[in-house]
Amino acid sequence: MAEQVTLIGRVVYGARNAFAHLAGALERHGMLGRGVRLVLVEGDPLPVAREEASRGRRVAVLYGLSTPVFLELAEEVARVAREYPVVAGGPHAEGAYWQLLRLGAWAAVVGDGENALPALVEALLGERSLEDVPNIAFMPEPGGFRVTRISHVSLDEYPPYHRGLGLYPPIEIMRGCPYRCRFCQVPWLFKARVRFRGLDAVLDAVSAYVSAGRRRIRFIAPIGFAYLSPEPGRPNPGAIEELLRGVRERGGTPFLGSFPSETRPEYVTPGVLRAVKRYAGNRRISVGLQSGSDRVLELSGRGHSVAEALEAIDLVFKYGFTPVVDIIFGLPGEEEEDVEKTIAVMEQLAARGARLRLHTFLPLPGTPLAQARPKPVHPRYREAVRRLLGRGVIEGDWEPQERLAREMYCLTALDPAPTRRPSPLPGAEGLCGDVWARFGPLLGLEEPGDGPPGGLGQRGSG
Ligand code: SF4
Repeated sequence: MAEQVTLIGRVVYGARNAFAHLAGALERHGMLGRGVRLVLVEGDPLPVAREEASRGRRVAVLYGLSTPVFLELAEEVARVAREYPVVAGGPHAEGAYWQLLRLGAWAAVVGDGENALPALVEALLGERSLEDVPNIAFMPEPGGFRVTRISHVSLDEYPPYHRGLGLYPPIEIMRGCPYRCRFCQVPWLFKARVRFRGLDAVLDAVSAYVSAGRRRIRFIAPIGFAYLSPEPGRPNPGAIEELLRGVRERGGTPFLGSFPSETRPEYVTPGVLRAVKRYAGNRRISVGLQSGSDRVLELSGRGHSVAEALEAIDLVFKYGFTPVVDIIFGLPGEEEEDVEKTIAVMEQLAARGARLRLHTFLPLPGTPLAQARPKPVHPRYREAVRRLLGRGVIEGDWEPQERLAREMYCLTALDPAPTRRPSPLPGAEGLCGDVWARFGPLLGLEEPGDGPPGGLGQRGSG
């Protein structure tokens, strides 16, 4: 393959590492440096795209989009897509691919990108059709959408880093989740099936990180302590010990059980904590509680009780760690009584020295709660936070998330499903006027309220 293709990765908030997997995949497929260049750009990609195109190269622009980033960059994506093929991946592309395609994206990556991107390069060169590219959605004709075959990769086959570009993100040790929390995107997207990166592959990567001077080894997993778990709810302390010890033997310091490898209560056991205490560098363990009300946990599909979470947190204290407890304000179905129960648990935990990482419910695209209308944060929560702030135990983005929750809901309400034209949810206009005025024209809706009713009929997803 001659030097033919330039892929321009649009870096957002300085997060260059987001492209490590794709760079690794292009290399693994013998493309990078042999016909394909990957250029990372922080800012408007068009000047670089035009420069590359003027040298006779084929150009595509890659975006990795969470919903907050989509809300920020939608106009840019549409502008770039008018000149060059745009490939959009990330949770927003997975949960609401039709919105990206309506903006003009050439393809939305909805499953694993490691095998989709090399096939997309071949499609760009005319060597295969989009139909034949796995894990994508595209528009075969205006207003029509097609999702191609979903093909899960083995993580062992793809390096999680890229030496040439100096990209060393936290090592992904697990993809997908066996639980079904209704507010979380992980189990409802196309790549939800649980896969682990095997011990040898992880430790090979660790050696490469340490050789590059990256001795602090962080892992990324939906449930950090579920590494190589034989079944849901049963941790594998032996594998965790081997993993952490292996990192130490290679000259690194591992971090497991704190961001971005938080855990669920079921996996907090004496065996796991002993291994983490002995080998890991972190002294904080992040445990998801989410609500102090069993009723809300049940409604959210969490699969554990408040008492079970508190037992896990006790154990975290007992082993000398500081628990960081995730709590979500305003989960759908939460009533006054549930708010009071959650506040009581927050105060009890704070008094014992736990830290509270507070979130506001976000109706994430692709989840069963994507169309749940968010409520303002309850005033009783605000009072509780004010009281606890003085103790220095509060963290988390609950305040900006409150604004984001409305915008996210309104975006879904404007274009909730892959219908031929956006089909807004009836009754959302009052809350959503500003968001609809901005995104309606971008998504091909001249006037908000222009589309046929019936979006409610598309409720649910994943
Ligand atoms: S919140 Fe955690 S446990 Fe629940 S589905 Fe998401 S990743 Fe899995």
